[in-house]
Amino acid sequence: MSVQPITTWILAAICAALITGIAWRFRALAPSGVIAATMMGTVVVGTGGWWPGIILVVFFVSSSAISRIGPQSDHQARGAQRDWVQVLANGWPMLIGCLLFGFSENTNWLLFGIGGIAAATADTWSSELGRRSHAPPRLITTGKVVQTGTSGAVSSMGLIASFGGASLIAILLGISSIGAIWPVVLAIVIAGFAGGLIDSLLGATVQERRYCDHCQRLTESNPHRCGTSTRIVGGIRGINNDGVNVACAFTGAIIGGISGILFL
Ligand SMILES: [Zn+2]
Repeated sequence: MSVQPITTWILAAICAALITGIAWRFRALAPSGVIAATMMGTVVVGTGGWWPGIILVVFFVSSSAISRIGPQSDHQARGAQRDWVQVLANGWPMLIGCLLFGFSENTNWLLFGIGGIAAATADTWSSELGRRSHAPPRLITTGKVVQTGTSGAVSSMGLIASFGGASLIAILLGISSIGAIWPVVLAIVIAGFAGGLIDSLLGATVQERRYCDHCQRLTESNPHRCGTSTRIVGGIRGINNDGVNVACAFTGAIIGGISGILFL
């Protein structure tokens, strides 16, 4: 078992509180998200070390910044203010991975966490930048042209953004002191990109699809950003974007963990 010294825990808690406090000021986190993200950041650094913490911060800051560029999206209406559910839906593999690394000292658990974050980054970047695409997106399952913002829709800009987000996390792993070799770094790119694709695939199939009668638009949120409650027009009731994000992060995490078993 290896956990960081108590001074690291304290320093990590101070850094996490500062960053999440700033995020709250900029309305990127709801109060429950501040608490969840502060605890997550502290435990991740305390058990996994500083590099997993840095990777977590880069995911969080880049995703929050990207969702602020350009016109408002549905995600922002529910809040660019991420709540504790959204924080955990994206970050759980990193939290679990670092905790298990602390107990086992097995680096594969760190790669499990980093693969999960690569997927979360790829997914957030692609959904936020993809909806800025001027070309209409296509449904990943049928290739049919659909409205921007439709769950499961992909565009070339979204796919490039997904690759970019995954690559950024992989590069951080490459320069980190975690000691990953290039096949593992490459695997993290694949982990992130695959997680993004799974997110789209589940978004197109099982995720509940909602419709706002007021705006006559498909949406993921309820109520819609206009305040009207939305009705389900497809998918499975109860499987929302958070549930799909859990699966997206899991896909990246599994690929990241397996890459460690294969190559390290
Ligand atoms: Zn509406």
